[in-house]
Amino acid sequence: MRALVLDERLQFRPDYPDPRPSPGEALIRVRVAGICRTDLELARGYMGFRGIPGHEFVGEVLRARDASLVGSRVVGEINCPCGACRLCRVGLGRHCPDRTVLGIQARPGAFADLVLLPEANLLVIPEDLPDEEAVFAEPLAAALEILEQVHVGPDARVAVLGDGKLGLLAAQVVARTGARTVLFGRHPEKMAVVRGAGIRTVLAGTDPELGPRPFDVVVEATGSWAGLEDARNLLRPRGVLVLKSTLAASANLNLSWLVVDEITLVGSRCGPFQPAVRLLESGAVRTRELIGGLYPFERWETAFREAAAPGAMKVLLDLRGGC
Ligand SMILES: [Zn+2]
Ligand SMILES: [Zn+2]
Repeated sequence: MRALVLDERLQFRPDYPDPRPSPGEALIRVRVAGICRTDLELARGYMGFRGIPGHEFVGEVLRARDASLVGSRVVGEINCPCGACRLCRVGLGRHCPDRTVLGIQARPGAFADLVLLPEANLLVIPEDLPDEEAVFAEPLAAALEILEQVHVGPDARVAVLGDGKLGLLAAQVVARTGARTVLFGRHPEKMAVVRGAGIRTVLAGTDPELGPRPFDVVVEATGSWAGLEDARNLLRPRGVLVLKSTLAASANLNLSWLVVDEITLVGSRCGPFQPAVRLLESGAVRTRELIGGLYPFERWETAFREAAAPGAMKVLLDLRGGC
């Protein structure tokens, strides 16, 4: 099969060995895969991952024990827990210490014609949901995780910092609760995608005239430490700060304001797939406009270059018609 393999650097291999499913795993032919910031960081060697990256995908099940899955188009929960430990038993499988994670941790990912995932991780997607929208299930699930962790009522004032893919998805998800939602970003053309959906947008650095520290909840999705400083000026005392950026570099952080203002700090990562797929199906979340490009698999280098460009939208790899 064709595969992108990360060794010292990322390389295209036209003849990589096909994977062989273990019991309980399905064999999936990848149709479309999304490049995310994590993939770019993996490619830079930040997380010590070797092998095939890629965790945002839509595919078709070729082989599975559950016959009803075969031939279906699916998306997949990327965390593969042991199922037996204390955390798994209380429903925290996404935090299982022995988990593997698709294309991120000890499990080959989806930048390949074929990929394996436990059948229990798969979610069949509706026929009328195009690949190019379904591939957003994983990042949208991550956005939905915010609402799993923090109660956001219709009276809440919520700021989302960052107009990257995750910020744009998070703002849309939050606004659906009825909360007054303000998206702070640097790219007017990107923020225009969500403006109107009950979301006010503010160009970073301008004064929105909202009064001092007006927000009950701030979602930090800028991918930079500067976002934390901005949050400080926006979040009210006893407010909730949701951190979505996984920042690889360490910084000299003064966190005393969290103590002084009694801020609740919530780290937030992967989320539930089922509601993400339902949301995509309903058309209530805009994803089409978030796509910056769709490239045939062989043009992966161009795709990665575009994905790494400042302000890039979601870049997708098209693996249909290969293999
Ligand atoms: Zn991702
Ligand atoms: Zn476990």
